[in-house]
Amino acid sequence: GSTLEIKNLHVSIEGKEILKGVNLTIKGGEFHAVMGPNGTGKSTLASAIMGHPKYEVTEGSVLLDGEDVLEMEVDERARAGLFLAMQYPSEISGVTTSDFLRSAINARREEGDEIPLMKFIKGLDADLDFLEIDQNMATRYLNEGFSGGEKKRNEILQLMQIKPDIAILDEIDSGLDIDALKVVSKGINKMRSENFGCLIITHYQRLLNYITPDHVHVMMQGRVVKSGGPELAQRLEAEGYDWIKEELGIED
Ligand code: ADP
Ligand code: MG
Ligand code: MG
Repeated sequence: GSTLEIKNLHVSIEGKEILKGVNLTIKGGEFHAVMGPNGTGKSTLASAIMGHPKYEVTEGSVLLDGEDVLEMEVDERARAGLFLAMQYPSEISGVTTSDFLRSAINARREEGDEIPLMKFIKGLDADLDFLEIDQNMATRYLNEGFSGGEKKRNEILQLMQIKPDIAILDEIDSGLDIDALKVVSKGINKMRSENFGCLIITHYQRLLNYITPDHVHVMMQGRVVKSGGPELAQRLEAEGYDWIKEELGIED
């Protein structure tokens, strides 16, 4: 499995420091959850790692198997094995889901070793079935006119098809009804292997009723302020975040 190391990461947006030294290490085989109140920088962490131009890294590093991710072009990050599901996925006009997936799969393979078309179609059909996605979604333009729930299911379809080494899923649960939440969780759980590590960002504990993380981290004011096991998420569900603020002497 691969290892993603986030070390002392400081990130600013338009000159304002949002992340103030984040440390996290995610290894193949591990599921990590990052929780925290709104506006604490969870999405900023995801966007900075994937190289969104608005997010300026002022200090620290992000390494994938020792390679400097922040030095890579955005498409290189994906080829190196990173996957990011954004809180608000964008629409890609003119590119069907099927074409997008096939080129994303091939981008991770050696030249001349492209996935055979029949193999691709069989795998895609199987994953569409598994995620209870209508077959015709594959021929629609990526995310164009998709409902919120369809976008999230499509992100998990991408995850299952592209099979990254490390994935960062930002609020993959937001806006999902319970049936969609179960399907999305089923897809993420199916990815579990020594060759796959995952960072699950969520505001709510609800998702973690279906996906059991190995590690839970709480982010506040741009830092990871507490880490623990699954029981930490349950305590947050029951008691909210105030006890952590008190414990650490954080003011609102
Ligand atoms: P979370 O995901 O934990 O809710 P965010 O990372 O979205 O938090 O936001 C952290 C802080 O950064 C907030 O104060 C937010 O207003 C600010 N912020 C996030 N993205 C932008 C942006 N593109 N432009 C300006 N400010 C931003
Ligand atoms: Mg938010
Ligand atoms: Mg967010």
